[in-house]
Amino acid sequence: MEGFPDTKSIDAAAGAAERMPGVFRALFPGARPLLVADPATWRAAGERLEAAFRAAGAAPCPPFVFAAAPSERSRFVEETRLALEAAGAGAVAVAVGSGTINDLCKRASFELGRPYACFATAASVDGFASFGAPITDEAGFKITRECPAPRAVSAEPEILAAAPAFLASSGYGDLLGKVAAGADWLVAELVTGRDPVDRRAWELVQGPLERWVAAPEKIAAGDPAAVAALFEGLVASGLAMQVARSSRPASGTEHHFSHTWEMSGLRLADGSEPTHGHKVALGTVCSAALTRALFARDFGPADVPAALAAYPSWAEREARVRAEAPDSPRMQEAMLAECRAKHLGGDALRARLEFLAAHWGELRERALSQLERVPDPAARLAAAGCPARPADLATTGAAIRRLLPRVQMIRRRYTALDVAFETGRLGEIAAAIPE
Ligand SMILES: [Zn+2]
Repeated sequence: MEGFPDTKSIDAAAGAAERMPGVFRALFPGARPLLVADPATWRAAGERLEAAFRAAGAAPCPPFVFAAAPSERSRFVEETRLALEAAGAGAVAVAVGSGTINDLCKRASFELGRPYACFATAASVDGFASFGAPITDEAGFKITRECPAPRAVSAEPEILAAAPAFLASSGYGDLLGKVAAGADWLVAELVTGRDPVDRRAWELVQGPLERWVAAPEKIAAGDPAAVAALFEGLVASGLAMQVARSSRPASGTEHHFSHTWEMSGLRLADGSEPTHGHKVALGTVCSAALTRALFARDFGPADVPAALAAYPSWAEREARVRAEAPDSPRMQEAMLAECRAKHLGGDALRARLEFLAAHWGELRERALSQLERVPDPAARLAAAGCPARPADLATTGAAIRRLLPRVQMIRRRYTALDVAFETGRLGEIAAAIPE
């Protein structure tokens, strides 16, 4: 595990639970482990880990097991931090879980200036090995807070494969999204000149990507080898974010769709919130369709005057952004800050459009050759048990088309949607969103 800023040990083979005490002792000499779990993850791996620590003579702190599965609300971070403090200055958290439990331990440990480790119980997200944790405050506003990734990540294929099927399909959606995220990065690199592709981060994720996403039906069937490969891909995504010090290697338009649905309160028919990976899955289908539609038509020097005329002044832009969130001044301000950061005026706008016209063929090649690596995202996602059509997330193509302007507004990160916006074609390509 040479050269990753935060994570120094990764062990995802059978017997990882029994090896955890040795890993812990090597990375945190003199510390006592505090296992943090919820009832399900405690049954899946917590009991075995505690027995392993005892057998190794490591005297773990009494475990902290939430009475019910927690969410990423800040009050659960607080509870986790209090448990760590109560366990003493020498206690180091071992998150027994994948999504929420890991994020809570990551943030609480950071607040106390302590490192931590993660024993993942499901291949459900790519956050195991990433720095930063998405935490929702009591007003319901979600932001990703800075904090280092775990010093160690361990997991066992049999435990990962035994987790509920929707968790692995969520991880599959999050991982397949890297195809679309890669296309956005390649576009942004050429257009903005400020977002160079970090070769090491790129290779970590994009190098083996086809292999990781090759067998979606085996993910749906809970095949341990396929789920282990999925886990490897999710960990690599986290490591790539560590290397790049940015979520760019793992996140583009497909994640902007996910964030937009999250903030707009998308719910399934039974009232539950779709998982992150399931929202990314449908976001990936939409992103790929929109990007293909964007590059299906040429943009040349003759198209520049019309695009110049269509581009809004900042005053017009501000009014449109506010109209996207009429009831939430806080959301308006957040989106205005993002849009302001990428708004072009006068000479910069003309230069951008002339650049796009001059490099359109190269941009198309970059985006489409990347998307071609997985030419059938909807079919793959459906085979893995992911939502692949709007109806699968209890929404419609028309509803997604209405949200599209907001998807382009919520992050300053440059994507193919920004190319569409700048060329005045965002409304036109919306027709590509599936019904
Ligand atoms: Zn994600």
